[in-house]
Amino acid sequence: MDLLLSGARELNISLTERHLTCLEVYYHELTAWNQRFNLTAITDWEGVLVRHFLDSLSCLKAISRQALEAGARVIDVGTGAGFPGLPLKIVCPGMQLVLLEATHKKTTFLEHVVRQLELRDVQVIHGRAEELGQSPSHRERYDWVVARAVIEFPPLAEYLLPLARIGGAALAQKGEGAAVEVHASEEAIQKLGGRVRYLVPVELRGLAETRYLVVMDKVAATPEKYPRRSGMPKKHPLV
Ligand code: SAH
Repeated sequence: MDLLLSGARELNISLTERHLTCLEVYYHELTAWNQRFNLTAITDWEGVLVRHFLDSLSCLKAISRQALEAGARVIDVGTGAGFPGLPLKIVCPGMQLVLLEATHKKTTFLEHVVRQLELRDVQVIHGRAEELGQSPSHRERYDWVVARAVIEFPPLAEYLLPLARIGGAALAQKGEGAAVEVHASEEAIQKLGGRVRYLVPVELRGLAETRYLVVMDKVAATPEKYPRRSGMPKKHPLV
């Protein structure tokens, strides 16, 4: 637990006993279900703590914790076993969270963990970003749209930006190639109503590589034709 506390402190995040207990329960459920459901390749405590929990919480370097606590609407696209959405929700219980995931067995796990942790204001949705982006109850509805390890830019921008409200933002967690990838996609981002605000570098203890938070502001409405139907953003990336 000391490692988690000090790792969080390095990110300027203070954790309470309750946060630590929740993260511990989450870890146990994740590893218990992993044998049947194949949720993550990382299963040792230190690995999960750094690469899943702290990496998820590092989003707070770009997203105000106060805004989340005040009830910000957040959607985590392609959340997998809940990253980065669930660690953020555990630490900022005031936020309204949607966990979107295309694989049914993962949403089964997410529903279980949300129940176990007694988290409120979390909706687990089994579906695809391309569908939700065209659904009136989700399109341009979110203050923050977040994603980690889902797909590369530009398809990633077509998944995320339609869901952000004008004045809201999208955040993509990326590795070393972030700047090059984003730079090559700036026109596509603009077509979707987005504008790159900045890239925030993140150093996590024990990890050699620098991680990046790519933050895009939603500055204009996304044209109606985006996102295109499922599979198209990946098959025919916007240029
Ligand atoms: N964000 C998690 C999972 C990454 S794996 C993490 O960082 O650990 C990518 C996940 O995105 C997979 O679970 C996959 O099912 C989901 N996914 C891929 N394309 C998607 C789409 N178009 N809509 C919703 N989920 C998608």
